[in-house]
Amino acid sequence: MSTTKKIKAILPRPVKPGMVGDGFRVFNYFPSGNNIRKEISPFLMLDFGPSFDFGPSDKPRGVDVHPHRGFETVTIAYKGAVEHHDSAGNSGIIYPGDVQWMTAASGILHKEFHETEFSKKGGPFEMIQLWVNLPKKDKMSTPKYQEISSKNKVLVSLEGNAGEVNVIAGDFKGTKGAASTFTPINLFSVKLNKDGKLQFDIPSGHNTAILVVEGSLQVNGTDAILHDFILFANEGETVDITASENAVFLVMSGEPIDEPIAQYGPFVMNTQQELMEAIDDFNNGKFGRLE
Ligand code: MN
Repeated sequence: MSTTKKIKAILPRPVKPGMVGDGFRVFNYFPSGNNIRKEISPFLMLDFGPSFDFGPSDKPRGVDVHPHRGFETVTIAYKGAVEHHDSAGNSGIIYPGDVQWMTAASGILHKEFHETEFSKKGGPFEMIQLWVNLPKKDKMSTPKYQEISSKNKVLVSLEGNAGEVNVIAGDFKGTKGAASTFTPINLFSVKLNKDGKLQFDIPSGHNTAILVVEGSLQVNGTDAILHDFILFANEGETVDITASENAVFLVMSGEPIDEPIAQYGPFVMNTQQELMEAIDDFNNGKFGRLE
């Protein structure tokens, strides 16, 4: 018998946004905004850039070439378009509803910009970047790139026209997600119309949270307003959601990775020694080349 998943805390949007490069105006929910890394493992970082119009620009805004090692970056576009290039030779443009799942693993250089045509016109831009940790045994595996776009996304329509679920990863009521993951993870991007209802189960052993991207919700009987982050306790399984108004939200859950975290900027390893090696390898050009 499954029981209602207990809510541990409802965390409001952090007060101040920060800039990542000149193209991503984001609120950092963790680890800076909230010190919850232990409670939200395997997720390492969540940046949410709510809808913001940067205005037209001939020079695309964004972040120029930088490295990553030891984890994955997952970028979800809600408005606007993001263009990516990396040193493994992968590139892509993700449009609203699309997701880019980049496994940095042993090391990659990449750059992330607003797409050129979108930049010229300007308009609302909204995205999320979520960092997913890798277990020790996979941190030095080969980099990988998964684009989840209109061609391969897995959409589940909800009964009674209540909305739809983009099953990015994991298992939504028996439907498998598009992305492959190294550890058990669920990632669902959900659109739910006003008064629409949705119920699903997530194992109590998963760390679980929901970010309200648009609108507002009732989650297991508790109100969550725009941009709230609902953090669940490891107790109970069932999540019952009613949209108080038209809503968009991101459900994330995963089995915790119970290993030490050592981080230096874009490198997330298990020990200081491994961080030193990452810095050395980066300085010695072992992350490849990217113009
Ligand atoms: Mn990056």
